[in-house]
Amino acid sequence: MKKMLIVHIITRETILCLLLMTKLMALAKEVTVEESRRNEEEKLEQLKTTGIGFNGKPSFKIAMFADLHFGENAWDDWGALQDVESSIVMSNVLDRELPDFVVYLGDLVTANNLPNPNAAQHWQQALAPTVIRNIPWASVFGNHDDAPFVWNSTWFGPSGSPILPAATGSLNYYQGTTRVDLMASDSSSQKSLSQAGPQGLWPSVSNFVIPIASSNAAGAAAIMYFLDSGGGSYPEVISASQVSWFEEVSSQHNPTASIPEIVFWHIPSIAYSAVGPQPLQPIVAPCVGNINYEAVAPQEAEWGIMNSLASRSSIKAVFVGHNHGLDWCCPSGSLHLCFARHTGYGGYGSWIRGTRIVELVESPVFQIKTWVTLEDGSVVSSLLL
Ligand SMILES: [Zn+2]
Repeated sequence: MKKMLIVHIITRETILCLLLMTKLMALAKEVTVEESRRNEEEKLEQLKTTGIGFNGKPSFKIAMFADLHFGENAWDDWGALQDVESSIVMSNVLDRELPDFVVYLGDLVTANNLPNPNAAQHWQQALAPTVIRNIPWASVFGNHDDAPFVWNSTWFGPSGSPILPAATGSLNYYQGTTRVDLMASDSSSQKSLSQAGPQGLWPSVSNFVIPIASSNAAGAAAIMYFLDSGGGSYPEVISASQVSWFEEVSSQHNPTASIPEIVFWHIPSIAYSAVGPQPLQPIVAPCVGNINYEAVAPQEAEWGIMNSLASRSSIKAVFVGHNHGLDWCCPSGSLHLCFARHTGYGGYGSWIRGTRIVELVESPVFQIKTWVTLEDGSVVSSLLL
């Protein structure tokens, strides 16, 4: 009897305690949901004033920053110096071209040899020239952004930061900052339009759509699609699931394919090799470009995205980075396959840095113009797409 009473007391107290905890947890969850809803509303409100659209102007200009490779060898003077130089390139382009929008086209950081385990810090440095000018942007992932650190454990000092590399010893691999964490850092800024994409596509993360509002009508005048072309923590491909997702969202946003569309990802498709000039040969019509100093380094496989794009007459061009020695655009059926231009001082190659610009003209006739603006101020590779 006494035993039953104790059980009864414990049970009653336990239940009361559990009820209280459940209540507190529900309250906390409500607060979190409320907070995120408020954040979302604030961001939407901000977007209205930011206005991703023509906003009464005849054109909408996009600057592409490709292959910045921030944080590379930052324990050496030359590593830190090249990030400063990359920032100068970006700042000059932004002040000269005054774009309405910036696309970070992957390989923002060199995650496999960063000086500290939080790649988001270097990622934020790469964003800074755009952030301080209050320009909205979106980012996609390259193959270096979430690569694992390759470090000898003896390279780390007591603070967790690296000391000088050891001459001998086996290498250790440390997990890099994940794509989801990098995207959370990027999209925490008010002007970021980057998204972590549908969770069903993870670990392929940077899959999202951004319509550009028309000045003349209620809807979009053009649509930008962003895809994660893999690399780093998983294979360099655009998966069949991403293709299905693209087909679904493009038919929702643009069911009659009447609105012009452009696409961004990092690693060129195999199709680039087929339409591009032979490596190291002159770039001849119908291709237009300034440098052709290496062979295309394409994705590992083609799982349907190019067929899907080719079947939509509204798709005007694909823009990629990855190959630092290429900046050409070539026609492929009804669309153009274009490289951006190596913007960063990080990564291989010492060809003059630059930025591909895309200018969408809404009226009187819709047009897409593109050119590459180089760090010395000259403009090359102008083309009407
Ligand atoms: Zn790359």
